[in-house]
Amino acid sequence: MTALDKPVQFLRGVGPRRSESLQRMGILTARDLLYHVPRRYDDASTITPVALAEVGMDVTLAGEVRSKGIVPTRSGLRIFQAVIKDDSGLITCAWPGQPWVERLLRKGDRILVTGPVKFFHGRQIQPREHTILARADAAPPGDTSPGGTPPGTIFSTYPAAEDVPQWVLRRLFALNLDWLISQVARDEYLTPPTRRALNLIELSAALRDLHRPPSLDRVDAARRRLAYDELFFLGLMQARVRHQATLERPGIAFVRTNRLIRALHDTLPFRLTAAQARVLRDITADMTSPRRMNRLLQGDVGCGKTVVALFAMLLAVEGGYQAALMAPTEILADQHAGAIRALLGGLPVGVEVLRGSVTGRRRDEARARVAVGEARLVIGTHALIQEGVEFDALGLVVVDEQHRFGVRQRMALAERDPRPDTLLMSATPIPRSLAMTMHGELDLSIIDELPSGRRPVTTRVASPEERAEVLREVCRHLDRGRQAYLVYPAIEESERAELLAAEAEFERLCSEELAGRAVALMHGRMPADEKDRIMRDFQAGRIDVLVATTVVEVGIDVPNATVMVVENAERFGLSQLHQLRGRVGRGVEGGLCVVITSERADEPSGPASARLAVFARTTDGFEIASEDLRIRGQGDFFGAEQHGHGTDLRFADLLKHDDLIRPARERARALIDTDPRLVDPANRQIRAHLDRRYGERARLFGVG
Ligand code: ADP
Ligand code: MG
Repeated sequence: MTALDKPVQFLRGVGPRRSESLQRMGILTARDLLYHVPRRYDDASTITPVALAEVGMDVTLAGEVRSKGIVPTRSGLRIFQAVIKDDSGLITCAWPGQPWVERLLRKGDRILVTGPVKFFHGRQIQPREHTILARADAAPPGDTSPGGTPPGTIFSTYPAAEDVPQWVLRRLFALNLDWLISQVARDEYLTPPTRRALNLIELSAALRDLHRPPSLDRVDAARRRLAYDELFFLGLMQARVRHQATLERPGIAFVRTNRLIRALHDTLPFRLTAAQARVLRDITADMTSPRRMNRLLQGDVGCGKTVVALFAMLLAVEGGYQAALMAPTEILADQHAGAIRALLGGLPVGVEVLRGSVTGRRRDEARARVAVGEARLVIGTHALIQEGVEFDALGLVVVDEQHRFGVRQRMALAERDPRPDTLLMSATPIPRSLAMTMHGELDLSIIDELPSGRRPVTTRVASPEERAEVLREVCRHLDRGRQAYLVYPAIEESERAELLAAEAEFERLCSEELAGRAVALMHGRMPADEKDRIMRDFQAGRIDVLVATTVVEVGIDVPNATVMVVENAERFGLSQLHQLRGRVGRGVEGGLCVVITSERADEPSGPASARLAVFARTTDGFEIASEDLRIRGQGDFFGAEQHGHGTDLRFADLLKHDDLIRPARERARALIDTDPRLVDPANRQIRAHLDRRYGERARLFGVG
């Protein structure tokens, strides 16, 4: 407990009522107030002296209210006006139709206003925004410039609330900031050499500069410091989870005999890419060590994750264990089984597929082969984790499309003794910085290279006017015996109207442009077995055109499908579009992907078009993901799943602070490896920070 842990009410200028209002904003302790930093800054470079404000400009001014009043107009409108003054002169501010502002502003208040300069009997500002910087009758001690603006002054705007307005916050900081800063020095947990190495300023300096920046360029350095803290403490939580998952109970140290691995190498019809070989080395090192593997393998569609997974599974089998591969749907499980059987050739390894749809005696026999160990590789869906499935010696669990499973499902196979290694796979490339932040508890391997000799997919952006021509092109593919996907934005449970629209469009297509073709509609509200049936018909060529929402399976392989049309493409994220595009061009023929955007044609440089141009230009999933991150911002990526899990970052900007992500994570991991529960007195401060930031959840560190 330090002084900063005391309730805000203990601070100067905070009574019981104000303390309640602050609590409603989430400000409970003195430290909470200190970390309540401005959201915006204005300085001489953004503030215009009154004398220089000209009609037609949009300006931000700072000055003192000299007089005020309501001015009635002939049309009956009541306009509140105030005259404000700075060192250079006087100007009128007017709030047409907002007479209530009169009650908010007092003569002598220092205010900041932003808005257009207009001409009404002289220059007049009509503020869009106004902020009371200081109250006329509440000038904080030591503030000697109630009217003028000293050169170099920076105005900070805080996140405020109705009952905790801007000027109250400013006054609270005027009264308390020096004391708060003097106390926070005790929170510093980074040594000067570490700060120098990471180019970080002191914690107290950072908080001081955020509240009272001597110049705007100091704000960036201050945010950088708090960004590091955020990443480091998040990293500690994740490192702790990682430690528990990989070290706390014994894992398996697989013995590599090369009996199967060498044989697979010899029969493989291709050479592994450099990236495949590299991630395989990561995986082999994990599996042969007693530390349990908990690794995420990321790689674009078609980069060859399956064969990598197969090598890992054979390493487990060589060492005397079984390996399981879990896929989100039966159709994907079957596809994996087919690919794996083909890659194995004649190698004597028992493969079993467990399907939810198989019941009765055949199911019992399959389960028996798994239980006695006759099956060495077991492939399936959720059926793998059902009651009644017993393994003889499960050593490795591979989860394909891991984000399609809940944490509990992913872990269900892993919670047994000895604990199997786990390899999670994802075909959704995300930038490394994002992956390291979101999945810090996992080790990360990335395949960033496609096998050579792939036929590229051609991508075009089209307008709705071109739709008819696009459909004629689709028909030309169909005439050659090929198949097509038509994709519409996702149909959510709530989007009843959209479902109707997609169904109507489907009916129309069937009777017009696609008359005489075998067309099927598939959407997210269908039962899983019905979707599976449609996909199998499509795979078998019984359906020419699949009209679908994004439920088109990631990872599904229909080499004969060569063309895809995506409607309302602007409603998809780029990464999502890239996933969809991965469905075509899996055969010998190059694919075609046409994205139709309803952004108006006279807006060729609109935001959607700019994004789609990036998508059309490159087929590199990681490049697209980086672009998506740049355009949409990190908030979109962290999404609902992550919310409240500590990954909502206030200060860290994954693009701006890219260079801090790796050191934060590495330092966090190193610390947890040496002091897993943070009980060493030398780590007392860090432990206290963690408890404050993560509260209950920091309990997973156990009692010291
Ligand atoms: P994904 O990463 O999407 O799961 P797959 O494992 O399905 O990719 O591989 C896509 C195709 O590429 C498969 O047909 C596979 O046999 C083939 N493949 C994998 N690795 C290589 C390689 N190094 N060279 C050539 N073809 C490869
Ligand atoms: Mg795959």
